Amino acid sequence: MPPTRSATHPCSRAWVDNAIRLIEADTRRSADTHLLRYPLPSAWARDADVALYLKDETTHITGSLKHRLARSLFLYALCNGLIDEGTTVVEASSGSTAISEAYFAKLLGLPFVAVMTESTSASKVALIEAQGGRCHFVQESGQVYAEAERIAAETGGHYLDQFTNAERATDWRGNNNIAESIFQQLGEETHPVPEWIVVGAGTGGTSATIGRYIRYRRHATRLCVVDPEDSVFFPAYAESRYDMVIDASSRIEGIGRPRVEPSFLPGVVDRMIAVPDAASVAAARHASLALGRRVGASTGTNLWGAFGLLAEMVAEGRGGSVVTLLADGGERYADTYFSDEWLAQQGIDPAQPAATLAEFDRSGSWV
Ligand SMILES: *Cc1c(COP(=O)(O)O)cnc(C)c1O
Repeated sequence: MPPTRSATHPCSRAWVDNAIRLIEADTRRSADTHLLRYPLPSAWARDADVALYLKDETTHITGSLKHRLARSLFLYALCNGLIDEGTTVVEASSGSTAISEAYFAKLLGLPFVAVMTESTSASKVALIEAQGGRCHFVQESGQVYAEAERIAAETGGHYLDQFTNAERATDWRGNNNIAESIFQQLGEETHPVPEWIVVGAGTGGTSATIGRYIRYRRHATRLCVVDPEDSVFFPAYAESRYDMVIDASSRIEGIGRPRVEPSFLPGVVDRMIAVPDAASVAAARHASLALGRRVGASTGTNLWGAFGLLAEMVAEGRGGSVVTLLADGGERYADTYFSDEWLAQQGIDPAQPAATLAEFDRSGSWV
């Protein structure tokens, strides 16, 4: 008989316990985000019996939807024994995720490295560095994954890997995830079960959580994912070819990817709409005027999709509600989406989609 053997891994359970407590305490000090009523023109919206809601994710401490993801990824890594005292935490990010993760890394006293494309806005870089994070740049968004893995290996650190882990780090059955929060906040509305929920996909995690939750709770709501130019999600979904890759970077920060990310779950998506970048920018500017505050371009993409779906409902004489996300504010984009000079440089002309938006405001119809 071989001898009974024993082995252990060094891990500071006391440190991990306290790290989880720090994150839970931070959550407890935080409030839920608002579900805003989007001001559709009363001239037709009341008769048509339609309503549009925006889940305002800008009120998180770190200013975007990515606060939820960063919290989930840190808890997931801690509870899976992947982060310990002193672990260097690494992420591949187009900016917003890294801002939120830098916040949690600082909360836990861990070194943080963000791998991002050179095109990331300077204000996002400043927000990461202000929280003690280090930014490491690559040229194309397709290069971030391998570079993040390399830095994690080199430092003996942990690669959070939002694009793989977003869908599994979030509790999709509830636990006040974004879907549960939306349905709970709609509880006393005229149409508490929306016809559509419209979201973009970066990691795909938000659409995965909402799609799973809708099915689990057996709601009739359908999930629509909007996708910008220079992204493979739409063509891959349209052709059911999930190995597609492209050699370009989306210009709509936060959404659109060069590969079909593992966290994007096409099986829970009922419909996809490809939105031109000019339409995303025009809708972001249009909504910024309607709301009296600037919203990011991915919110423009969301609204372009939501307006089209509402116009279909109006045309078919079907009342109901539509929910979409205000994923981040426009303050970070004064030099890009809100700069006419930048738009001209990029060859983006929002004039035609702006006319479509004006017609939607006037009549509720869509061309
Ligand atoms: C990440 C992000 C999204 C998309 O969310 P995912 O859950 O990653 O798919 C949309 N808009 C903005 C501004 C984002 O940062």
